[in-house]
Amino acid sequence: MSVHELSASELIAQLNAGEITSTELTRACLDRIERYDDRVQAFLQVGAESALEQAQAIDQKRKQKQPVGPLAGLPVGIKDLLCTQGVVTTCGSKMLEHFRPPYDATVIARLKQADAVLLGRLNLDEFAMGGSCENSAYFPTRNPWDLERIPGGSSGGSAAAVAAGMLPLTLGTDTGGSIRLPAGLCGVTGLKPSYGRVSRYGLVAFASSLDQIGPFGQTAEDCALALEVIAGHDPHDSTSVAQPVPAYRAALRQPLEGLRLGIVREHFGEGLDAEVEKAVREALRVYESLGAKLVDISLPHAKYGVAVYYLIAPCEASSNLARYDGAHYGHRTDEKAMHKQLAEERAVLQAAGNERGLGQLDSALVRMYRASRAEGFGAEVKRRIMLGTYALSAGYYDAYYLKALRVRRLIRQDFDEAFRQVDLIAGPVSAAPAFRIGEKADDPLSMYLVDLYTVSANLAGIAGISVPCGISQSGLPIGLQLQAPAFGEEKLLAGAHLYQQATDWHRRRPQLP
Ligand code: GLN
Repeated sequence: MSVHELSASELIAQLNAGEITSTELTRACLDRIERYDDRVQAFLQVGAESALEQAQAIDQKRKQKQPVGPLAGLPVGIKDLLCTQGVVTTCGSKMLEHFRPPYDATVIARLKQADAVLLGRLNLDEFAMGGSCENSAYFPTRNPWDLERIPGGSSGGSAAAVAAGMLPLTLGTDTGGSIRLPAGLCGVTGLKPSYGRVSRYGLVAFASSLDQIGPFGQTAEDCALALEVIAGHDPHDSTSVAQPVPAYRAALRQPLEGLRLGIVREHFGEGLDAEVEKAVREALRVYESLGAKLVDISLPHAKYGVAVYYLIAPCEASSNLARYDGAHYGHRTDEKAMHKQLAEERAVLQAAGNERGLGQLDSALVRMYRASRAEGFGAEVKRRIMLGTYALSAGYYDAYYLKALRVRRLIRQDFDEAFRQVDLIAGPVSAAPAFRIGEKADDPLSMYLVDLYTVSANLAGIAGISVPCGISQSGLPIGLQLQAPAFGEEKLLAGAHLYQQATDWHRRRPQLP
């Protein structure tokens, strides 16, 4: 097998055994990027020189028998939403086209401490708002299995880079499905940890009560490896929980006889693609043959998940994104043009003796904010800001935001109830395989419905993972989603690992032309 087919865990073993150097591996990744990324377009920035320097430094360390970290020499790609000191971090937005953070996100600091090689910045929907990667202000990423289709979003670059064998491991973020959905649509494994498991310090905030950072790899074992590095309490993020970080890799081999797998009645209703249903049901049979017990359960409020999410997430986004005004952060409009325009308007009003009009002219500052935001944000981000601002405004707050919070509580209680009867929940990641680029571009509502099976985990704060479980007739990957109670990552990863020991869907790779 060539290096681009090996999983992160297998590569780490080879690096540790001295069968391959980090410089060789990094070069192999760079070659592959060079060969395929003009078509896949997963990367916003590659940074070959810096990656090779890091690789050489780690090879040197190994040579000198110095202790090395758990990811020593492994190239890891980063969703371009995670602040990295001195490296342009665009968030997929024109607003931050030139933003160089003065500090590292905690997960970045931990990757560096673990001796990973940071290679590249991966494309995403602008500020992580989207499910297809088409909302990037730069270019859409393409699905390596079919270049005419979307890779899923918002962490589309992170999933596509792993699927195309350009990187063994990447980080993404998941606010309503942005790790699990692209993992499912690209045929890789992606983990959304529980709320509070991983520090978000240095993650550019979208919806703070929902955002989580997590890994993409080929296997659950890769995700366990990465989670051991990035998880844990951080004094810089008060929402990160002070619970010890278990040895997730060791936990993969825990005995799972009698594992109770919850099958959600509501997940198999209208709108579920027949091929997806078949693949998921087949995966459930595999679990049964491995000794799991399938338990029929109900999540009665799951059907409100998308509606609740698309109130809460935009409300939080409208507040989080207020800082991009051209003064505090972000793109600033061409002020000369603005002042000129203001002077012209003033002259016209003065000539007409229009005192009232003159009194109503917006100040230069207000104009600067307005123009900077109008130019810096894309259409979907503007839509979210408007939705959120509306729902939070006086008179609507109770009717929308507060009500959404109440239903969120009910969704959480459904999960609490379900996890009294089962260890994990299993079902589809998305209702259908990847759609064509542009197919849903004019229909935001149908785009939002893609998140049907993923948003409720974020609303409830629980953990979820997407593992490949089939390939459609037209050659597109299908994902199986497993969910666990908050801080149940050990069993979640073990459950996914069990399946991957018995199947080889996670080994399938796209044929890139
Ligand atoms: N598709 C969802 C949205 O657009 C989820 C995005 C995410 O998880 N970052 O909000």
